[in-house]
Amino acid sequence: MATSTRHRKVRRKIVDLPVGSKLMIGFGALTLLLTLVIACLVLTVNRLGTANDIVGVANARSQAADQLRFTAADMRAAQQAYVLGGTSSRPDFDRSLSRFEAALDKLRTSAGDPVEHALIQKIATGYQTFLATDQLIWSAFQEGRFDLARNLTLGAENLDFGFMADDATQFADRAEHSRVDAVDRFHKASDEARSLGIGLGVVALLVMTVASLWITKLIRDPLHKVQMAAERAAEGDLDAVADVHGDDETGRLARAFNSMLAKLRLREETLLADHRRQETAGRVHRALEMADDEVAALGVIGLTIAEVLPGRSAELLLADNSKANLEQAIVAGPHPDGPGCPVASPFSCVAVRSGSAVTFASSNSLDACPHLRDRGESACSAVCVPVTFMGRAMGVIHAVDAENVVPDPAEIDALTMLSTQAGARIGMLRTMVRTSEQASIDSLTGLMNRRNFQTRIRSMRRAGTPFALVMADIDHFKRVNDAHGHETGDRALKTFADVARSSLREGDLIARWGGEEFSFAFVNLDPQAACSAIDRIRLELAGRLSTSDLPRFTVSFGVVSADACASLEDAVRQADDALYLAKARGRDCSVIADSNQLDEEGMAIRPLQRVVEKVRNNSAHGVLATLARDDDPMDR
Ligand code: GH3
Ligand code: MG
Ligand code: MG
Repeated sequence: MATSTRHRKVRRKIVDLPVGSKLMIGFGALTLLLTLVIACLVLTVNRLGTANDIVGVANARSQAADQLRFTAADMRAAQQAYVLGGTSSRPDFDRSLSRFEAALDKLRTSAGDPVEHALIQKIATGYQTFLATDQLIWSAFQEGRFDLARNLTLGAENLDFGFMADDATQFADRAEHSRVDAVDRFHKASDEARSLGIGLGVVALLVMTVASLWITKLIRDPLHKVQMAAERAAEGDLDAVADVHGDDETGRLARAFNSMLAKLRLREETLLADHRRQETAGRVHRALEMADDEVAALGVIGLTIAEVLPGRSAELLLADNSKANLEQAIVAGPHPDGPGCPVASPFSCVAVRSGSAVTFASSNSLDACPHLRDRGESACSAVCVPVTFMGRAMGVIHAVDAENVVPDPAEIDALTMLSTQAGARIGMLRTMVRTSEQASIDSLTGLMNRRNFQTRIRSMRRAGTPFALVMADIDHFKRVNDAHGHETGDRALKTFADVARSSLREGDLIARWGGEEFSFAFVNLDPQAACSAIDRIRLELAGRLSTSDLPRFTVSFGVVSADACASLEDAVRQADDALYLAKARGRDCSVIADSNQLDEEGMAIRPLQRVVEKVRNNSAHGVLATLARDDDPMDR
């Protein structure tokens, strides 16, 4: 176990080495290996050379021994020749002596062991004896004692020379034997050198191959992994990872590559999230654009809340017109009544006060919104996003879930986007409604203005709805202003407007035509019935003025049946003419256009005095009943 751990550590260290160091170590190891192989081969060659030298020496020795042996025979033969043949053969004998001595000298220096040394010694001694005998023979020969010389020759042959020749032969045999031995050793050394060379070569080749493969693998494998990851990344797969852990250049390259991909993934996720957010924002924007009233806009907002916060119970609380109260406008999610935030006004809401989204992980935590507490048995989490329009608080989107399940930042972003768009759209719709109301309503009296009135009665005429058109003008209003001030005049106008409005039926119209002039449209009434309705207004006005601090004033009316007129302008003109007539006839009365005969019957001109008389004699209801019964059989 300890060994394998150590191996792993060593391997780790090698893997962590820079690529250059790995290559240097690899090439260094190979160079060392080659050096060792070469050294071994040199040693082997040296050994072979030595063996070869030994063989050479053995050969020379063997040759010298042979020469000694053969020269000994020559020497003997040359001695006999000069003894038998005369002095002319003596030089041959001397040359044979020289050759013998030369061979003996060679053998003396190359004697290998004590036996050979002894043999050489014996041969040398025998040679000295032979030379001494030859001196005797040569002396006898020179003295002419040829028989003695011959006998001495034979004696030397028998005694000394024979022994010496035997020794030379023995030495030659030994020399030959050691030569053969040296040759054998040389062959053996040669075989060993060949085997060693081949073995070392094979081992070196194997080691070099394995080392090259290993180093190549160490360098190539991580590079290959980085290459594969880079190719995958180039094809768009940003999840590709270069699985390389070393600390060398490739390991660092892989880590840099992985880190680059991680950043790209993050960037891609951010872009995708942005794209999704923009796409959602675009959809919500388009949907809200299509919502042309607040109800439709609230529907879109409800759907979007359900999409952005699926599964959460949510609601939109909106401020009413007074901006003092928050009311539940939408409910989304599983709970039919919504989360039911009890916050009563925008400025009691923490999110509205903070001006941005707030989240609460637990309704039980100390810093939770007070309105979150006591919402049932279990604690909950919440997110609240204020809804504003042009910096003014309009409401809040509020959603709850189980404790500690707060929306993630993307959901809060989406909710913030929705609240922004919702605030903008609802605010704009409300402004549009207000603006259009302001454009069509008289600000002093709260009645519709002339233009709005004309539009409405035009559409009534188009629809074929019968109605009586009435133009009204306050009598001597200038005097009211002059005597009591403009402000009193304004209050008088408002009082008449209130009285007239409250006396109308559903569907009837009243407008401020301009100044102290008013117009009426009594739907489905003929002029006579309209006059009865006008009488009720006059009566009601008189009653109201009697109990107020306003000066008494009366109103004159001109009445026309709109159905009988060719155009709206014609109807207005006729009603104006009738009004003018009413003024001319003393004011505080109604005149029906083109109905002069009614004058005589007292139906059209109704001085207020007549009405007041009836009031004196009857209760208000009695007056109405009397009027309805006596004056206007067609009244409602
Ligand atoms: P007549 O009975 O003939 O209609 O007499 P009149 O005084 O009512 O008629 P005239 O046209 O002479 O005067 C109308 C006055 O109404 C003049 C003007 O100052 C006043 N008036 C018009 N609009 C307003 C208003 O908004 N407020 C006040 N206080 N006065 C107004
Ligand atoms: Mg007038
Ligand atoms: Mg007037």
